[in-house]
Amino acid sequence: MVEGHIYTIQFLYQKYMYEQERERLVLNLNREGYIKTKRVEQAFLTVPREAFLPDLLKDYAYVDTPLDIGQGQTISAPHMVAIMCESLDIKDDQKILEIGTGSGYHAAIVAQLVGEAGYVYTIERFESLAKKAKENLKQIGCANVIVNVGDGSCGLPLYQPYDRIYVTCAAPYIPQPLIDQLQDCGKLLVPIGDMYCELILLEKEKGKSIIHRLGGCVFVPLVGKYGH
Ligand code: SAM
Repeated sequence: MVEGHIYTIQFLYQKYMYEQERERLVLNLNREGYIKTKRVEQAFLTVPREAFLPDLLKDYAYVDTPLDIGQGQTISAPHMVAIMCESLDIKDDQKILEIGTGSGYHAAIVAQLVGEAGYVYTIERFESLAKKAKENLKQIGCANVIVNVGDGSCGLPLYQPYDRIYVTCAAPYIPQPLIDQLQDCGKLLVPIGDMYCELILLEKEKGKSIIHRLGGCVFVPLVGKYGH
């Protein structure tokens, strides 16, 4: 009985501490100019990053850095997730495709941005990571992210066209299937390079592609048919 109370108090205290750290991180991301809009700020305040990390790394959840999630892969740094969300200008009710689920954290943030009537389809090449991401998303009650396993360099034709597509790993060039699966007036965000890469935003307008270069970044490689 007493043990149960102690456990509850410890749990509530830990939850409170994580919330404090989350608020501090969001304040810094705002100050540093990575978070620009209230919508993205609210999404970051809502999603608990610690829920997407292995137990040993939960205490580092609010350090603005990528962290190991197994299989040699990483959960992206919060500032990179913020840059990508702001660049994509995600709206309510949209249908989004994410290539590279990893832990599911980035997808959970995007799920907040599309709201309950929107959908995030995400594809991961490692079955073990996809399974863990599903558990993480379920644990936080996120119901509008659909996790798939496969080679995301070919996109996910089943649910096309998408309003937004983003790739969370470095591609050698923009995979043509992703351009094909993008809705007209849609936006596609891809890091191009070999680990050290450049974030490229493609806007599709009346079938034409307009390219914007958004600056340097570091990502694990996209592998697969249209990958490295
Ligand atoms: N956004 C994720 C998060 O919040 O945890 C981090 C993604 S991690 C930087 C990149 C992911 O892309 C890895 O999990 C990796 O296995 C995956 N990946 C690489 N090539 C892929 C491919 N062809 N299809 C699907 N996933 C791929």
